[in-house]
Amino acid sequence: MAYKISDACISCGSCADGCPVGAISQGDSQYVISEDACIDCGACSDTCPVDAISQG
Ligand code: SF4
Ligand code: SF4
Repeated sequence: MAYKISDACISCGSCADGCPVGAISQGDSQYVISEDACIDCGACSDTCPVDAISQG
């Protein structure tokens, strides 16, 4: 199960910088995680300042 970013995202970009497989990119209104690329390491969830990332 890939991690997911909720609409609480403030587009700070820190999760994308820390993703080891480059699975996070900037979408239209917030950052998004590619389900296919995510390896469920959890690093993004730990760095998000607004706790917007959880395991989906
Ligand atoms: S859980 Fe890991 S691999 Fe998946 S998006 Fe977050 S940092 Fe990237
Ligand atoms: S770290 Fe959190 S607030 Fe920042 S871009 Fe990622 S999901 Fe959005």
